[in-house]
Amino acid sequence: MLARDRLLEGQGAIVTGASSGIGAAIASALAAAGAAVGVNYRSGADAADALVREIRDAGGRAIAIGADVSNEDAVSRMFDAFADAFGRIDIVVANAGLQKDAPAADMTLADWRAVIDVNLTGQFLCAREAIRRFVAQGPSPGSPALGKIICMSSVHEMIPWAGHVNYAASKGGVMLMMKTLAQEVASRKIRVNGVAPGAIRTRINESVWSDPDQAHGLLKLIPYGRIGEPDDVAKAVLWLASDESDYVTGTTLFVDGGMALYPEFRDNG
Ligand code: NAD
Repeated sequence: MLARDRLLEGQGAIVTGASSGIGAAIASALAAAGAAVGVNYRSGADAADALVREIRDAGGRAIAIGADVSNEDAVSRMFDAFADAFGRIDIVVANAGLQKDAPAADMTLADWRAVIDVNLTGQFLCAREAIRRFVAQGPSPGSPALGKIICMSSVHEMIPWAGHVNYAASKGGVMLMMKTLAQEVASRKIRVNGVAPGAIRTRINESVWSDPDQAHGLLKLIPYGRIGEPDDVAKAVLWLASDESDYVTGTTLFVDGGMALYPEFRDNG
């Protein structure tokens, strides 16, 4: 095995929303790279337990931690549970997210708030707790950074999305939250970055990719010609979590097969 394969040896990572989709792929990738991983879930304890077993069977270290990321006390308890099991925390991937779609005129205040609470406030609560813990525990023996935070954004941090105003607003908010935090904590050697997936094959968009007509329409928006897989995103997160990206902070890495490149203009507009 190449040394590069164990980029996170000896480090600790929490991945939120890790019992399914992109979060599960990230948790597996970080564990394979040597990190001890907290597999956070809100619902789906069985899936989180199964992933933890899979990681352990492969020789990795992991625990499942139930917590609603939009609940301040639950987030603090999640970090306590991780510290009890593994000690030091070096990496936090704020991935948990959801959609509750409706045309703006029909969108309930409850659905607006539910999406902002999880996708934006939940990421803030996790990032704030991460900063507190990184500072309290002091320099890392294994990394030049005091800690690394990765925020799961979306191409919809920049592409407006009719019928999804709560989701697009949450991801636009994530982008400037990430940049502001990065600016604020860089002098403490904490790196904060975002990852912006395009269309990735998970249950969040299953109704689109499982329907041939809709999948065909979706592919027109992806210059690279395929729908993304959770591993495509996990590889980008692994790089941002590792010291290979030590001079990178405050940036969004788009993992979208070119979706954000205005593909409508491919044929001269
Ligand atoms: P998913 O539904 O499989 O994963 C979302 C996870 O978040 C689920 O495990 C869910 O249980 C968890 N979650 C929801 N609310 C939570 C809460 N309050 N506390 C803790 N966990 C909670 O879908 P996914 O596609 O893997 O989404 C993961 C992230 O990627 C989301 O932030 C999503 O917005 C983002 N994203 C996905 C795509 C895509 O095409 N799939 C594109 C861009 C961005």
